Amino acid sequence: MPVAPTFSDRVHGCLLGGALGDALGYAVEELDLRSIRTAYGPSGVRSPEDVRESFGFSDDTQLTLYTVDGLVDAIQWANDGVAADETACLWLAYLRWLATQGEPASSSAPAPPPRWIDTQEVLRRRRRPGAACLSALRSGDMGTLARPINLEAKGSGTVMRSAPFGLVPHVPAEVADRLAVNAAALTHGHPAARHCAAVIAVLIHAIVNDGQSLREAVATAVARAGTSGLPDLSKLLDTALELATDGGVSPELMTAALGTGWTADEATAIAVYAVLAVPADAGAEQHFSSAVALAVNHDGDSDTTGAITGSILGALYGVQGLPAAWTADLEGADVVSAMARLLVDTTSAG
Ligand SMILES: [Mg+2]
Repeated sequence: MPVAPTFSDRVHGCLLGGALGDALGYAVEELDLRSIRTAYGPSGVRSPEDVRESFGFSDDTQLTLYTVDGLVDAIQWANDGVAADETACLWLAYLRWLATQGEPASSSAPAPPPRWIDTQEVLRRRRRPGAACLSALRSGDMGTLARPINLEAKGSGTVMRSAPFGLVPHVPAEVADRLAVNAAALTHGHPAARHCAAVIAVLIHAIVNDGQSLREAVATAVARAGTSGLPDLSKLLDTALELATDGGVSPELMTAALGTGWTADEATAIAVYAVLAVPADAGAEQHFSSAVALAVNHDGDSDTTGAITGSILGALYGVQGLPAAWTADLEGADVVSAMARLLVDTTSAG
């Protein structure tokens, strides 16, 4: 019997797993399915060995690590007895990410003091950052539920950075949910963008904090989507569950039913489909690598669907469930691990 992963294993697994899925998807993000097959063969890209260029993560992981840093900043204040506004800490973190991309913010935006993460060269690379994140942060306005920014933006830029909200220990799911919703509103105004961020945060929370099985955690997440007031989101997730029941479908049928992942609801649905469509009985590493491959070989936003899929299974199995050869190949794996350690150490210190 494998030993159940510890909290630390799950945090490392979630962040590294997300980065691995992101990196595999980033290799094919700009390719449609036909071009992927031309370049990588009929099964598409399956592992880092297939990737000809560097195996590096994109803005999805950069922003996820900045989510961790914003949370850690708020928790460090709390550990010192000072109640800091978590959403403001996250906004400052995302503004520091914006600076790493060489993008000036409006003169009205605060200029937060640098932290350790800001010195990491691997995070300063420009990896096709999303337009809504850039424009919202450049504006210098802090988007909130009461004063939304980018009203029409329902891109996947919120779900791709929201797994860490589910990693905060000793809090109920409602807290993970609220943190994810408020952080999504910093850059995206469309309700689907914030509700999907909460769906992923609640899913990760159910695994890491409540010890739920994958199927239980997905059911918890689907129930959360049911409270969003967005029938299209619930319908999409129901379709994802149906498609996964029969062991999955072709990539063509998957995108015809679930979309391409460029919007928050589609990316969420593809990840839910991918983690369930692959049989888990072949073991953690096999489940992880097959699900991530399923999540990235399609016409759409491959790095984001890969990142969400990888973060869910990484949280489930812990870091020991990830294919070691993948992690060994990953550029910046040490920085991802360092941020995981920082989150674990900070949340254990309070
Ligand atoms: Mg990306």
